[in-house]
Amino acid sequence: MSALQPARGTRDLIGEEARRHFHVIETARRIAAVWGFDEWSTPVFEDTRVFARGLGDTSDVVMKEMYTFADRGGDSITLRPEATAGICRALVSNGLTQTLPQKVFYTGPMFRYERPQKGRYRQFHQIDVEVLGSAEPLADAEVIACGWTILQALGVAREVTLELNTLGDKASRDAYRAALVEYFGAHRASLSDDSLARLERNPLRILDSKDEGDRRVVADAPVIDPYLTPEARRFYDGVRRHLGHFGVPFIENRRIVRGLDYYSHTAFEFVTASLGAQGTVMGGGRYDGLVEEMGGPHTPCIGWAAGIERLAMLLANPPAPPAPVAVIPVGEAQEAAAIGLLQALREAGIRAEAEYRGNLKRRMERANRAGARAAVILGEAEVARGAAQLKDLTTGSQSEVKLAELVARLA
Ligand code: ATP
Ligand code: MG
Repeated sequence: MSALQPARGTRDLIGEEARRHFHVIETARRIAAVWGFDEWSTPVFEDTRVFARGLGDTSDVVMKEMYTFADRGGDSITLRPEATAGICRALVSNGLTQTLPQKVFYTGPMFRYERPQKGRYRQFHQIDVEVLGSAEPLADAEVIACGWTILQALGVAREVTLELNTLGDKASRDAYRAALVEYFGAHRASLSDDSLARLERNPLRILDSKDEGDRRVVADAPVIDPYLTPEARRFYDGVRRHLGHFGVPFIENRRIVRGLDYYSHTAFEFVTASLGAQGTVMGGGRYDGLVEEMGGPHTPCIGWAAGIERLAMLLANPPAPPAPVAVIPVGEAQEAAAIGLLQALREAGIRAEAEYRGNLKRRMERANRAGARAAVILGEAEVARGAAQLKDLTTGSQSEVKLAELVARLA
């Protein structure tokens, strides 16, 4: 049999790629915790209805990209394409709609049947931050500011720009939608087939089109500003004011509508010019109707998701490979001493390793190849007097050190 390959659009994470990936997750997890978010985990697959909620959903994700199949019992199952719907389902399933707000941090794999390319995969991973159950613009600003802080901690903030928009409340959006239908209706001939379908079902979607022809038409489309109700304008002003208080820089972009259908008021993206066509690293917005669609009470929410692969690619200083301490027994008789030392070093939180076999020369070669920072050589004579040779592998200097002092020396 020829060697098997990973399924199209999926990747293995090994070595530096794994270190980049987990550095993004650990950084986000640490900052989200400080900002008051609790981590949740929900199933990777859900009842398809969690994601496809009736005929209202016109997004590409739901219409074209979902991994949906009947399981052996005949139930329609979908591998989650995003985290938010599952989180809202969990809020309702666990009876948490009476204890709001809930501030949720999330990370895990997502699945979309897309054309794989750089920064776009069929299994990809997200970090995700949501505030469930707050209608205040302060929540929007805090969620965005938390994302900005994570981008800063990752060292990628200089490469990204926050683009902010408002989609208004329902009254604003209804009026705006009518204006868009009129405008795009007059330009039918220039629109892609996809956008002609969007014109019928959700004309705001056209603003988000990646088709070149559509984009030329979109360039002159009306903006929402004249259609915003006083309440919607006040809300948007509040978000902008609080972003200022948090010290988050942004520009405004009236073309941001986001990839899923359930947004209102705030919509935003952190974009970069450094990743070609896959330039959105983090995106989100306010969604006030989703929990209701899961069978819960009206619950206003705000959140974002960021692609870990895209953030990992942007990292300027990927974490260095770990530099262990190599413990080297000279001869089988010193193995007990070696294991004792390994135990003491590891207990102190020091990464320490011993080869399973080999003579002194082989073990030293392996230690150098593994990037060890130091080697502790346990020779018969040294061990007999409660000591070992400590070799610093970066400087090459070597000296005898008491076993009892080794941990402190290597800490
Ligand atoms: P795009 O416009 O790039 O298709 P999207 O609007 O579909 O993105 P969201 O559903 O908002 O993306 O997901 C949030 C983030 O998840 C994106 O900004 C991106 O960083 C990441 N992402 C989305 N789809 C993929 C994918 N197929 N592969 C890798 N990362 C992805
Ligand atoms: Mg997409």
